[in-house]
Amino acid sequence: MTKGAGEFTVTCVACPVGCEVTVSGGDEVRGNRCDRGREYALLEHRDPRRILTSTVRTTCPDLPLLPVRTDRPIPKRLLFEAAKLLATECISPPVKAGDVVVRDILGTGASAVATDDLF
Ligand code: SF4
Repeated sequence: MTKGAGEFTVTCVACPVGCEVTVSGGDEVRGNRCDRGREYALLEHRDPRRILTSTVRTTCPDLPLLPVRTDRPIPKRLLFEAAKLLATECISPPVKAGDVVVRDILGTGASAVATDDLF
């Protein structure tokens, strides 16, 4: 992803073709071969979001760290702060994969869900 001279260029990852898509002048998009690339580039330019994958501590000696991920993408600018928040959590069994372990992370509406069981 590059920015410069009022332009923003990103590699579209919506399919394996990997078009280099450039946004300029706010709404002008070029380099995309389809509408998905336009939507992807505009979103990456205006409000980039990512799924956060991390771990939370547990009280279980056999599995001291439980892998979790957010149930939806969160603003990229909040990833570090959200990871720090998850690092302060400590959960106890039982937890099943898919259970919510932290709700509404930093007011994003996204929850952290377990990706493994903890029994
Ligand atoms: S713009 Fe369309 S064709 Fe190009 S990488 Fe994105 S989805 Fe694929």
